[in-house]
Amino acid sequence: EVRLRFAPSPTGFIHIGSIRTALYNYLFARNNNGKFILRIEDTDQTRFVEGAIENLIESLHWAGIEYDEGVFVEDGKIVQKGDHGPYIQSERLDIYRKYVDELIEKGHAYYCFCSKERLEQVREEQKIKGLVPKYDGFCRNISIEEAKKRIANGEEYVVRLKLPQNYDVKFHDLVRGDIVINTDDIDDQVLLKSDGYPTYHMAVVVDDHLMEITHIVRGEEWLPSTPKHIYLYEVFGWEKPVYVHLPTVLNKDRKKLSKRQGDVSVEDFKDKGYLPEGLVNYLALVGWSPEDNQEILSMEELIQKFSFERVSKTGGIFDKDKLDWVNGHYIRSSSVERITDMAIPYLIKADLIDREFVQDKYEWLKLLVHTVQESLNTVSEVVNKVEFIFKDYLDIVEEDALEIIKGEQVGIVLTAIKEELNNIEEIDEEYAKGFMKIIQKATGVKGKNLFMPARVALTGMAHGPEFVNILVLLGKENILKRIDYVEK
Ligand code: GLU
Repeated sequence: EVRLRFAPSPTGFIHIGSIRTALYNYLFARNNNGKFILRIEDTDQTRFVEGAIENLIESLHWAGIEYDEGVFVEDGKIVQKGDHGPYIQSERLDIYRKYVDELIEKGHAYYCFCSKERLEQVREEQKIKGLVPKYDGFCRNISIEEAKKRIANGEEYVVRLKLPQNYDVKFHDLVRGDIVINTDDIDDQVLLKSDGYPTYHMAVVVDDHLMEITHIVRGEEWLPSTPKHIYLYEVFGWEKPVYVHLPTVLNKDRKKLSKRQGDVSVEDFKDKGYLPEGLVNYLALVGWSPEDNQEILSMEELIQKFSFERVSKTGGIFDKDKLDWVNGHYIRSSSVERITDMAIPYLIKADLIDREFVQDKYEWLKLLVHTVQESLNTVSEVVNKVEFIFKDYLDIVEEDALEIIKGEQVGIVLTAIKEELNNIEEIDEEYAKGFMKIIQKATGVKGKNLFMPARVALTGMAHGPEFVNILVLLGKENILKRIDYVEK
């Protein structure tokens, strides 16, 4: 049975590169009927963020990425499930301690008492000499007895990995192929910090082993760390997992997608009104494609078609236009109710409607959203698309619209519309459908000359959504007001 894990640090949000990593883990686990685990890597206590675990679980849940073991939120509380717990690293300190001690006893790790100042100085000197900064091994030969005395005396210490000299660490990566790195190019990595917490490197190896992880799928930024991990597996005598390092998600300039450039977290995209299916479908394609190059894929299809063989070696470019296109597809194929319910918060926030309005005029809102649904790439765009309906008066600014409204037969058409409306109570859908036919009969004006002036007077635009719907949405009074305004 395959067992995969997503092991985020709770920093407060999930970067979309990170959710793609979670997704690929999930797809592979499901494709192989295996298990998927959520582990929280919170050994960096300086980066603690309140509510971060809840947030990231919420983002995974929103994206439809489900897991079988690990950390969950139930009734607002964090709970853990599974036989390999605890799944929060800060609750596993004793476990790491035990394995650190084992390494020290076997001569694969050592206590280091070097001060920050000394380390800084060594680094500076190495830099001046043009060397890659690396720990100089000052504490490597302190005996265990000596070290224990110093610790008993209250000296601060860390524990470092004792790498052999000139030893080739080899491993295979499913995307990158065979990789060899010599220990002379690797630092004696700190495994246990002075605060008693393990470093990422120590914790990740111990946990992946104890949690029986078979495949480690993570971003390529972790590739330089992997030799250290491999070496640890070797000295512990543990079976190594399969490694897959995923290409970084890049922006169009081929740079890492960073928060400074705008939206990068799952929450950002959720807030913009992307649908989870749209974001997930698109992200799956950043760095992977199915054999048949199909572009619209449901989660089920993604699970069926996913394989690491088709993950690209080079960075995946995050193309917002393509994301919008994919998302637009899902908006168009969603029910009007769903999109209306998603649209309401944006309309309220833009002050176009309030809660009471939603209660009283839900059906009207549905028609409103339905009228523009086809044209939306994200749900938040609804505000711009429907704003004109809520205005009391429309100033025509578009050039082609201005041209149309100056036309010769405009006056005749608009007058006929007013006369016709004065004869009726209110506009319903049935009536709206036949409305322009009535005006045509009354005026003898046909085609473009008939429709365009009406559209421009009522919407301010030469092009736009279904005119029949506009008539119903505006209603008699608003239409009359708008025509009066144009005639002035
Ligand atoms: N905690 C690491 C992260 O935040 C996990 C890296 C890994 O998957 O090994 O990405």
